[in-house]
Amino acid sequence: MNKICVLTSGGDSPGMNAAIRAVVRSAEYYNMQVMGVERGYQGLMENKFRPLKSIDVANIIHLGGTILRSARSDEFRTADGREKAVQSLKRHKIQGLVVIGGDGSFNGAKSLSEMGIATVGIPGTIDNDLPYTEYTLGFDTACNTIIDAINKVRDTMESHERVMILEVMGRHCGDLALHAGVAGGAQAILVPEVPISTKKLVDIIIKGRDFGRRSFLMVVAEGVSGGAEGVKQEIKELGDFSVRTIILGHIQRGGSPSTVDRILATRFGYHAVSLLKNGQTNRIVGIKRNKIFDIDIVEGLSQKKIFDTELYEIGSL
Ligand code: ATP
Repeated sequence: MNKICVLTSGGDSPGMNAAIRAVVRSAEYYNMQVMGVERGYQGLMENKFRPLKSIDVANIIHLGGTILRSARSDEFRTADGREKAVQSLKRHKIQGLVVIGGDGSFNGAKSLSEMGIATVGIPGTIDNDLPYTEYTLGFDTACNTIIDAINKVRDTMESHERVMILEVMGRHCGDLALHAGVAGGAQAILVPEVPISTKKLVDIIIKGRDFGRRSFLMVVAEGVSGGAEGVKQEIKELGDFSVRTIILGHIQRGGSPSTVDRILATRFGYHAVSLLKNGQTNRIVGIKRNKIFDIDIVEGLSQKKIFDTELYEIGSL
């Protein structure tokens, strides 16, 4: 294999640029040519390729977002769209594809591999919702962004003796809320995986006040029914509390990647290119116990995400 391409797809995450850089530099090391595809699968269908050399990825390791840009493409979900993408790859004589994205993007990669395209996936999503890997690219940076917000909001909630409900991303997966909630010292963590009653939340406030606590932080994943606003209404129905909500939103997706994410991106990128170099395809890379590994794309996607109940319980003590 001597010519490959790389694309970023779905929601962007900090560290995608560092991964693109690692793919390009690793490919050069193996004497392989790299093309960058703009705007994910949409660009693949529209023939939006550009050559990438080391110099093109210089000074991007610290940048959030993605220099290749990202997109969601409905056309690519159709058989005609995917056929267009395959023709584009053939026209450019590309022998392997590195997809950096989340589970949707990996499903796209799986479809391409079924059409004979050699694909490898790098998990790039802040949600940490991929079942086969302990961490995804961007998760650590997003946690740090949330912690930064918590540190600031703590000042004002303490001054005004308030209950602050902070909503973070995670529609089906509560990992961001869990990790940021534990690291941020939240009094309650609400995630889609573990139901919690409003009475229990109110008890936390009442008991806390009894021993002198003035303010309360509750971190809520967006996938919890009603989100932060719903939780606020329910708490207010049970007592006269001063409650405020904050929805962090897309701030969590941006920013310069953390050291952890830059190193993860560098290791993922090298591993992905090495797989293609060795003719191993239709694989997705991940990390477990600080070891980079790869797994068949179908097998990896079919696993069930396991929520860290131990951390949840320790964090709720
Ligand atoms: P995140 O969830 O972190 O935002 P993601 O990669 O899961 O990232 P999606 O929007 O789900 O983001 O998927 C990105 C793109 O992948 C879609 O716009 C679509 O073009 C393609 N895709 C998703 N699912 C499939 C599928 N089942 N078959 C083919 N292509 C798909």
